[in-house]
Amino acid sequence: MDWAGREVTSVSLEDRIQQVNQKIEDACQRSNRAREEVNVIAVTKYVSLETTGAVLQHGLEHIGENRWQDAQAKWEAFGQQGTWHFIGHLQTNKVKDVIGKFRYIHSLDRLSLAKELDKKAAALGIQVETFLQVNISGEESKYGLQPEQAKPFLREISSFSNLKVVGLMTMAPHEENPELTRPVFRGLRELRDDLNGQALTSEPITQLSMGMSNDFEVAIEEGATWVRLGSILVGKEEGSRWA
Ligand SMILES: *Cc1c(COP(=O)(O)O)cnc(C)c1O
Repeated sequence: MDWAGREVTSVSLEDRIQQVNQKIEDACQRSNRAREEVNVIAVTKYVSLETTGAVLQHGLEHIGENRWQDAQAKWEAFGQQGTWHFIGHLQTNKVKDVIGKFRYIHSLDRLSLAKELDKKAAALGIQVETFLQVNISGEESKYGLQPEQAKPFLREISSFSNLKVVGLMTMAPHEENPELTRPVFRGLRELRDDLNGQALTSEPITQLSMGMSNDFEVAIEEGATWVRLGSILVGKEEGSRWA
């Protein structure tokens, strides 16, 4: 319940979209960034097929899911609408399911996965766009390359002609005070700039996928170009796997 005794869960999708937009605008203003630099991925893993459809109808164009098993029905219903982002850990044997369906893979974290993505993309005659997932915080529970592995990794995959690295991705630890996540997001930005200074890729790495419901404002202030928003934007529904 909120202060007026209303069910907080009854806040409409439209209201949540508007509130999030305002927060993004404010964060851009605080950090002197153009609003157009920040893209929103609506993470629908906590919500139903119906709500995913409503999200697209409300004009949110980018959809994020973290498991193919949960995404499949939604993708089959709405895959031709919007742009799909695979944001979760990706098992090599699941590449065949997601390739060609998800335009972006945000979780490239090992050579075996890069090889499989490149191979399956080549078979389809497409380029798969990826984000290198980097474990900036150093938490053992987090996936991702160690920051110092990024350079050798980019060299190793530089000949993979059907795989393109467009950005870096990270997840910050959950903090009660989001300000404490700032060094993680700043670290990812500095790593990107450092990698670009060494010209390891044919084109500069421009994108930063960082910031979730709890910490996206700080991530934007530190340069996020994609924020991945679930609970704050599309909500969480009873009965979904994560509720
Ligand atoms: C679930 C998830 C999100 C969104 O989480 P919220 O905290 O609900 O915004 C973002 N990124 C990844 C990788 C996720 O798995």
